[in-house]
Amino acid sequence: MVSRFLTRGATSLSRQSMLSKRTMATVQSSIGDKKVEMSNLEKGKYINYQRIENNLQVVRSRLNRPLTLAEKIVYGHLDNPHEQDIERGVSYLKLRPDRVACQDATAQMAILQFMSAGLPQTAVPTSVHCDHLIQAQIGGVPDLKRAIDINKEVYDFLATACAKYGIGFWKPGSGIIHQIILENYAVPGLMMIGTDSHTPNAGGLGMVACGVGGADAVDVMADIPWELKAPKVIGVHLSGKLNGWTTPKDVILKVAGILTVKGGTGAIIEYHGPGVESLSATGMATICNMGAEIGATTSLFPYNHRMASYLKATNRSAIANYAEEFNHNLQPDQGCEYDQLIHINLDELEPHINGPFTPDLATPISKFAAEVKKHSWPQELKVGLIGSCTNSSYEDMSRSAAIAKQAAEHGLEAKSKFTITPGSEQVRATIARDGFVDTFEKIGGVVLANACGPCIGQWDRQDVKKGEVNSIISSYNRNFTGRNDANPATHAFVASPDLVTAMVFAGDLTFNPLTDTLKGSDGKEFKFADPSGHELPAKGYDPGENTFQAPPADGTTVSVAVSPSSDRLQLLKPFKAWDGKDIVEAPVLIKAKGKCTTDHISAGGPWLKYRGHLENISQNCLIGAINADSGEANSVLNQETGEFGAVPTVGAYYRDKNIPWVVVGDENYGEGSSREHAALEPRFLGGRAVICRSFARIHETNLKKQGMLPLWFKNPADYEKISGTDKISILDLQNFKPGQDITCEITHKDGSKEKFLTTTSINEGQWGWFKAGSALNMMAAAAKARGA
Ligand code: SF4
Repeated sequence: MVSRFLTRGATSLSRQSMLSKRTMATVQSSIGDKKVEMSNLEKGKYINYQRIENNLQVVRSRLNRPLTLAEKIVYGHLDNPHEQDIERGVSYLKLRPDRVACQDATAQMAILQFMSAGLPQTAVPTSVHCDHLIQAQIGGVPDLKRAIDINKEVYDFLATACAKYGIGFWKPGSGIIHQIILENYAVPGLMMIGTDSHTPNAGGLGMVACGVGGADAVDVMADIPWELKAPKVIGVHLSGKLNGWTTPKDVILKVAGILTVKGGTGAIIEYHGPGVESLSATGMATICNMGAEIGATTSLFPYNHRMASYLKATNRSAIANYAEEFNHNLQPDQGCEYDQLIHINLDELEPHINGPFTPDLATPISKFAAEVKKHSWPQELKVGLIGSCTNSSYEDMSRSAAIAKQAAEHGLEAKSKFTITPGSEQVRATIARDGFVDTFEKIGGVVLANACGPCIGQWDRQDVKKGEVNSIISSYNRNFTGRNDANPATHAFVASPDLVTAMVFAGDLTFNPLTDTLKGSDGKEFKFADPSGHELPAKGYDPGENTFQAPPADGTTVSVAVSPSSDRLQLLKPFKAWDGKDIVEAPVLIKAKGKCTTDHISAGGPWLKYRGHLENISQNCLIGAINADSGEANSVLNQETGEFGAVPTVGAYYRDKNIPWVVVGDENYGEGSSREHAALEPRFLGGRAVICRSFARIHETNLKKQGMLPLWFKNPADYEKISGTDKISILDLQNFKPGQDITCEITHKDGSKEKFLTTTSINEGQWGWFKAGSALNMMAAAAKARGA
């Protein structure tokens, strides 16, 4: 049930007696005295609970109301709690996260940019994880070997750059970013940003962890505060207890069904209530991980003894003890208010299957067979896939193995293909030691590399042809069209690992293991017993192979490996500083008509290969934008030659002749992802300004960071006055002060001129970015001045 009104929030804190109860006065005076490292892998980097304590004192005195847990952690990381406007859903907060995590695909440009900030080390602890570039083909070992070969130059670059700048480097084969974070870096009450949408996984250990674009990661690595719209807070009150076939995955499958793929946008989902106690820490991580599917900023659980057990099992007792001391700030205040409140009774929650094609189409298992028939979804189950960052914990694997073992005891092998992706080397080694890998292989399962693999489409699928209609089911998080195998006809469903495992023995989507039977090799019918597993390995975790590269104490002598002939990587050269003059008669490169998203500005797909090579990827610059003069894409007038050419070609032509150019855009220019390439590319090709009816906020900020001027038509109708044959002058910039309008002048093809006014949201600091040529140039100058 969803409450449509502000609702009283958490009124009782569960199992508080399990945790130490110290008075706030005692904690306030002592919490910062203790030095507890954030991770066993980072010496001398301590948890800063004192900052949270201090910030919250200020914020409480200003807001004078009970706070949700999400607010406590977020406001506890404010850069300036005294002067920051704080209104949920309205204000933009400047925050100081404790750490940054990057996966290998997004890390390339983030690190290349960070390098140009001229800093010797990242400002906060940072880690890079090689997980996205490994394609699943045959099985773990050969697939990993091939990936290391194919991606060698990328891995070499990341390894050397990490060593130079003090970044922890997780080699290919180490596992998936979010699992490694949970095992080594997540800390209750701290804040992390990560260049991957499922960063919220760390909410399973009570951390506010948000997925961001590379530009945001670079800011935090370079000591610039991170900007976030003050999140709304959606409470999910859990009562009852998980039982039978119902798993943590079913909680988020249900929530996704309630809130839909957009329902969490701009909000943190805060779980609470007595039902939390029946979830393991890794189960909570599953729920937080898949919260990305409802658009949530992140998801979060209050600290409890299940988190403490996981921290202790992963050799972090000191952190568990410290968190217990800080527990008053790791719970929501009594009487806090949520913007929306959802109740879920776990006693009544059924296992769900979501899909196809969208993760919010939720169907309880009891109704699923009927839905399959009603919609004529392909009933034969071709492949079942378990694991990924969402569901690859020891608990998940042990429950799945228990189901597989039952089937094996009845002489069955999987009817569908069955793949298992361990989330980390530690999980792989532990499940191998404890016999689960043998169990999976015995029934025909294939254990893939510890990497993203089919979850991100890195899957050389051979069993069906492109275009062939078929069904697959996974315990992953996303099932959008073509995501796993690039086949738009594949119906992909998402469920718990338990259901996926049971269903591969039936090979049929209409099978319900809660009620239906299967025929064993002896011809007798049997029904699966309820799955059971182990929250944590009784013999402890086996760390497996050491796949971590710690940075050396002093990385100054390390040289970063980038081959000048590489077509995937290219060192960035700083953009030129502003020459202090007006921008005079800059040709309009393109007047874009209608929607111009970051996909139109910097297309994905095959271009992603070049995301570490600005020159190469710039060949996709604005190729999807529609030229308002002709209605065509990727064809614009070169005003110098009078010929038409591709947008990037004409842009580069102007740049090489030292002619600045501008883009004219319509409404909400740059909506979509936070992809920094959409701002880097026009700047690289010599663009100086984008003049629009309106901007998407993140893209507008990204343009400013790269030293571009984002200007808004003061009178939106002025958009109509301009065409792609015009030139634009941007006047009186020398006297510009933030807050003022900027006058522009159109020079039409016939030589006639007319002026129009623009506004800009550039503030004092951002004006400095423009003058310096980019935000990173400014950081580099500051670092130089400090003698860094
Ligand atoms: Fe993203 Fe899938 Fe990799 Fe998780 S396993 S990080 S969801 S690609």
